[in-house]
Amino acid sequence: MHISLSGKRVLVTGGTRGIGAAITRAFAQAGASVLTCSRTGGEAADALARELKATPGDHHFVTADVSRTEDVQRLVDACQERLGGLDVVVNNAGRITHVPIEDLGMDGWREILDTNLTAAYDIVHRAVALLGPGASVINVGSGSALAGIHHRAHYTAAKAGLIGLTRSLAKELGPRGVRVNVLSPGVIQTEAELSEEVRTRYQKMTALGRLGTPEELAHVVLFLASDLASYMTGATVSVDGGI
Ligand code: NDP
Repeated sequence: MHISLSGKRVLVTGGTRGIGAAITRAFAQAGASVLTCSRTGGEAADALARELKATPGDHHFVTADVSRTEDVQRLVDACQERLGGLDVVVNNAGRITHVPIEDLGMDGWREILDTNLTAAYDIVHRAVALLGPGASVINVGSGSALAGIHHRAHYTAAKAGLIGLTRSLAKELGPRGVRVNVLSPGVIQTEAELSEEVRTRYQKMTALGRLGTPEELAHVVLFLASDLASYMTGATVSVDGGI
């Protein structure tokens, strides 16, 4: 099945590798104009830009750290200048660390909260004036938000916060015709290495007996961004192979 998003102007944060790269690629293949960012850019951003030249959509890259509010303003300004506005925001950029609670200091806590939760608030806060009827915000949460995982209190708290943020913004922005949803992914196989033992354990947790691919998550993002999902807002959408 092919979804056309031709003419849609899309911001995907953290789009140079992993899930964000797959989402960026999927929007460009669907004919959208996509602007993406990451902190470092580099070869990953250059390679994606080269690849996306062959797609019907167009692609822009800005170096920006979404946990820095001045970078977020620059990112939103770039959407206005280069895309001429915004129809879709995908808050995908995220970071994770594994730290026992007794070692988790304020700096470590804030770093993860700022990237995974506060950035999503800040982007919508600054971009909301650009979002008109039919626009859509998609936050990339995590299945671990509700399950909890040891040594990831900061990460799961941030991702659980995204659910509350999503539901409140859905109520606040619904009357303006703007939809807001959050994805709850299970384990998605990206470039990150997993040991055989960990991979097998995660696979056994799923009903489908395998990990997800970034493309399988990107397809759900395209659906949520499209008019096919026009009556979906405030939803937490599991994409986890049936964990
Ligand atoms: P990756 O680490 O593979 O990629 C993260 C991307 O975000 C990179 O492009 C990275 O680039 C960018 N990024 C990280 N921090 C920032 C920042 N502060 N500002 C701007 N860009 C940033 O992650 P995944 O693809 O695995 O994960 C993507 C999202 O999906 C995250 O929100 C994650 O929490 C969520 N998720 C992932 C799961 C999985 O199994 N992979 C499961 C559940 C949820 P750079 O380092 O150059 O900044």
